Amino acid sequence: MDLSIEQTCPSCGAPIELHEADRLIKCPFCDVGNYLVSAGVSRFVLPDKAPECIAREDMIYAPYLRFKGNIFSCRGKQVDHRVIDTTHQGMDIPTLPLSLGLRPQAMKVLPVTDTIAGRFFKQVEKVATILTKATDMAALFSSDEAVGALYHRAFIGETISCIYLPLYLQDGTLYDAVLNRPLGKGDAVALLMQEAMRYNPAWTPRFLATICPHCAGTLAGEHDSLVLSCTNCESLWAEKEGAFHPVNWRILRSEQEGDNHLYLPFWKIRPAVTGLQLASFGDFLRLTNQPVVVKREHDALDLCFWVPAFKIRPNLFLNLAKSMTISQARIGEGASEMAKTMYPVTLPSSEAVQSLKTILANITMDKRHFLPQLPAIDVQAQQTELVYLPFASSGHDLVQEQTTVSIASNVLQFGRSL
Ligand SMILES: [Zn+2]
Ligand SMILES: [Zn+2]
Repeated sequence: MDLSIEQTCPSCGAPIELHEADRLIKCPFCDVGNYLVSAGVSRFVLPDKAPECIAREDMIYAPYLRFKGNIFSCRGKQVDHRVIDTTHQGMDIPTLPLSLGLRPQAMKVLPVTDTIAGRFFKQVEKVATILTKATDMAALFSSDEAVGALYHRAFIGETISCIYLPLYLQDGTLYDAVLNRPLGKGDAVALLMQEAMRYNPAWTPRFLATICPHCAGTLAGEHDSLVLSCTNCESLWAEKEGAFHPVNWRILRSEQEGDNHLYLPFWKIRPAVTGLQLASFGDFLRLTNQPVVVKREHDALDLCFWVPAFKIRPNLFLNLAKSMTISQARIGEGASEMAKTMYPVTLPSSEAVQSLKTILANITMDKRHFLPQLPAIDVQAQQTELVYLPFASSGHDLVQEQTTVSIASNVLQFGRSL
């Protein structure tokens, strides 16, 4: 489930409702676009209903870490995947609930800003703890066949956020301020209060003006786009470390009459592989043991991975990366000219690179012998390019023109909330 966030417009202060994955805030009141800079862990607070006799500066906020994303595991002789969404106490106070349960999904959360006068408990648990917790959950749900030695694990498309539970002390009792319910004696909490801190200015969310760094045109995109476009100079931009950087991109236009295709983005990644001979497409076909005759032209072609640049369910993600990578010899060059229907990029290239080993393991036919080699193999990106490919709608499916690879049309809509 997606978090619903009550944000204020960075330009005019009007209230705007956002979803967790939203990056581009288009304000309906002042019409100004602002792009949210990615800054590690996002901080939110659950809205409270504390009684008026509790001064706002006496409020206490307890951190909970939330993990939401896909976990891929290469274990035994199979590649396994799970979608995990979990919260866990970011400290160790037995009086407090261990998890927030469904609460973050049932109510709008507020971004942590300097308007919060209370004190925040220190987050003691490291982010690694929530990752371990998430992987434990993934293992718990695994099928029996998946049990075996773990050779590789990857977190793909994950968001890690810190959600604060508001609390207050009244007559020595600790209260949950969301429900106004007593949690227990406040002794342990009173001690911890000495270490609690006020709002940290470093937590303030940062925004970028949506102006093209090249021509000063307006950058456009969907609310959850990680890549913004300037139609004025036909350039694409992605935020990194608080600034927009140009994206190396191409589009392969449809050759059919009356182009009404949907252009889906893929990260085309030329890998740098160590621990394995995997430079050409021919090497790849032999290694993964594809049922094709490896020809001279296959050996002359550099291997590239084709990874969906948008979020979809993990099994579909692996399948699509597999069929596109196997069919790469049929995909032409294309050019950098924009089409009207370019689907938003919602998976960053860094995440795509992290998925390469899992994608390779999933494509390989003989997993029993290949998976144990994974710890000694390293796959990095040598060259990354964003390529948009035309998909035509045929009933319930979207069919890629050059490769005839197809996906169900409804999986795209579903992926937007992952
Ligand atoms: Zn505004
Ligand atoms: Zn421009």
